[in-house]
Amino acid sequence: MAQIIDGKVISQQIKDELKEKVAALKNEGKEVCLAVIQVGNDPASTVYVGNKKKACEYIGIKSLAYEIPEETTEEELLGIIDKLNKDDTVHGILVQLPVPKHINEENIINAISPTKDVDGFHPASVGALSIGQKGFVSCTPAGVIQLLKRSGIEISGKECVVIGRSNIVGKPMSMLLLRENGTVTICHSRTKDLKEVCKRADILVVAIGKPRMIDASYVKEGATVIDVGIHRDENNKLCGDVDYASVEPIAGAITPVPGGVGPMTIAMLMNNCVEAGMN
Ligand code: NAD
Repeated sequence: MAQIIDGKVISQQIKDELKEKVAALKNEGKEVCLAVIQVGNDPASTVYVGNKKKACEYIGIKSLAYEIPEETTEEELLGIIDKLNKDDTVHGILVQLPVPKHINEENIINAISPTKDVDGFHPASVGALSIGQKGFVSCTPAGVIQLLKRSGIEISGKECVVIGRSNIVGKPMSMLLLRENGTVTICHSRTKDLKEVCKRADILVVAIGKPRMIDASYVKEGATVIDVGIHRDENNKLCGDVDYASVEPIAGAITPVPGGVGPMTIAMLMNNCVEAGMN
C-alpha cells in the first residue's frame, strides 16, 4: 500500500498559511493585488480564471479582472500589460493562456515585468531558476516540490526522473529537483528505453499528457510517483498520465488524480502573489 500524497490537504495548508501572511500585510497597510487578464471566453479558461478569483478571495488578495474581447489586438493587450507594470498597487500580473491565435504568446510573456511575473514564465524568471537566483517559479512544478517536502519525502541524493520537457512543467521541474540536490534525468518523446530509465527513479515525475501511459512496468518498487497529467477518460472520469490502479500497489508514495498535483498549482500561484506583495 502506497502512501497517498494528498494535494487537497497540502494545498489547503498552504492557502491557510498565506491567509495569515496576507492579514499581517494588511495590518501594515499593504493590500496584495493580482491582475488577471482573459482574452476571449474559452470555457476552460473561464473555469481556471474563476478558480483563481475564488482562491484570491479566500486568502484576502485583491483581484482585478480584465475580461477583454477575443478581437483585442496584440498592441491593445500589450498596452494593458504596460499600464499594469507601471501600477505600484498591482503586485502580480497573469495573462490566462492560451491567447487567441492572432496574438503572439511569446511577446505577451516577455512584456510582463519579471517582478510581477507570478506565473514564472518570463525568460528572466526561467533564467534565474537555472542559475539559482531569486525569481518566480512556474506554479505546477513548485507545487510538486511542496508535495514532496510536506509529505516527508527526501529529494537530496535521490534518483529523480522527469518525463516531459515542456517549458511550464518538465524543464522547471527538473531544475527544481536539481536545486534540491536530486540526481535528475529528463525523458521525452525521443528517449530510448524509457522504461529502463524510469525504473531507476526513486522519484518519478510524470508530465507527458498521455492518459494512463505509465503503468507498473515503468516503476521501481517503493518509488515515489508524482502524476502531473490531467485528462478525462472515455467515461468522462478524471485520470492522469499514470495508470493509478496498476502503480499504486508497488509505489512507496503516489499522487492521485484528481486531488494530487492539480490543487497545488493555484496554491503556488497564490504563494507567488504574496511573495510579489512582500517585495
Ligand atoms: P506538453 O504536451 O507540453 O509536454 C509533454 C511532454 O511529454 C513533451 O516534452 C514530450 O516530449 C513528452 N512526451 C510525449 N510523449 C512521450 C512519450 N511517449 N514518451 C516520453 N515522453 C513523451 O505537456 P505539459 O504542458 O507539460 O503537460 C503535461 C501534462 O500535465 C498534461 O496532461 C497536462 O494537462 C498536465 N498539466 C497539469 C497541470 C496541473 O495543474 N495539474 C498543469 C500543467 C499541465
